[in-house]
Amino acid sequence: MLRTKAYAALTPGAPLVPWEFDRRDPGERDVLIDIEYCGVCHSDIHQARDEWGGALFPMVPGHEIIGRVAKVGAKVTRFKVGDRAGVGCMVDSCRDCAPCRRGLEQFCVKGAAFSYNSTEMDRKTPTYGGYSKRIACDEAFTLKIPSSLDPAGAAPLLCAGITTYSPLRHWKVGKGSKVGVVGLGGLGHMAVKLGAAMGAEVTMLSTSPSKEGDARRLGAAGFGLTTDPATFKRLAGRFDLIIDTISAPHDYNAYLSMVTIDGAMVVVGVPPAPTPVHAFSLIQGRRTLAGSLIGGIPETQEMLDFCGEHRIVSDVEVIPIATINEAYQRTLKSDVRYRFVIDLATL
Ligand SMILES: [Zn+2]
Ligand SMILES: [Zn+2]
Repeated sequence: MLRTKAYAALTPGAPLVPWEFDRRDPGERDVLIDIEYCGVCHSDIHQARDEWGGALFPMVPGHEIIGRVAKVGAKVTRFKVGDRAGVGCMVDSCRDCAPCRRGLEQFCVKGAAFSYNSTEMDRKTPTYGGYSKRIACDEAFTLKIPSSLDPAGAAPLLCAGITTYSPLRHWKVGKGSKVGVVGLGGLGHMAVKLGAAMGAEVTMLSTSPSKEGDARRLGAAGFGLTTDPATFKRLAGRFDLIIDTISAPHDYNAYLSMVTIDGAMVVVGVPPAPTPVHAFSLIQGRRTLAGSLIGGIPETQEMLDFCGEHRIVSDVEVIPIATINEAYQRTLKSDVRYRFVIDLATL
């Protein structure tokens, strides 16, 4: 076993503290990665506080993991020592069910093995995430990181990037598509960059007028202030696709009114309570209200390659791990542009 330094929440809601645990020795299909950077996702905070229920402690969060390959098992073919590699939200799945066979491991009928707050497919061994010095992962769930990308900025692609790339692709966004992005945070800023790179005309829909400059710098062609009712009139029926990244309570019906005929609104944020939707919001314009969850492994690699080609990374603030609890506080206040990334050299 490999003794591994980490930061962990020892009990629900406790501040993260230094902790050590044993990683498995890499098996014949495993890649051992020395972790360089790990992004701080809002869901790390939800889970460390057990806000979704059933969380496993001690918990080492982190599912935006980038590092260098330190060792490969005998049967590994796609990685060699020294390669840059990534691990996202999943480390394994059953690989045999219909979703897994379609490359949609996030919907594995047996439940994927998520990178932390989960178990390996033996359903006994707990998984620990990227707020740690190293990780062993089957090469089938290890991603190649294009050398053109800054590794700290690339880390958030593994969750925030794929979470927004997948619906943009699934709803076939391309040149001339009109895309609205609701909320300019970790997810929203990636949706703007990716949508613009795909050729779409992207409009940022935000409650904060101070975000307009940043939205335009990130690639948005338009801006709509959602605290102003006139915005919803001006943009009525405008968008082929709206990506809704907001996890605070808000009225889906108002946003659906900006979707064009046969268009869709896709939610990737999770408000704390169920959100009422009036049937007329969907009937009028034959609109679709949909959801999306990260993306499968093949699509995650496709996204990374797309970002490598277009030189897209996340805007990040790199932090030493000792300030992680402060970073959580600031994330909760949306006081980050637009993702904290932990430098694991500081652990
Ligand atoms: Zn995440
Ligand atoms: Zn499966």
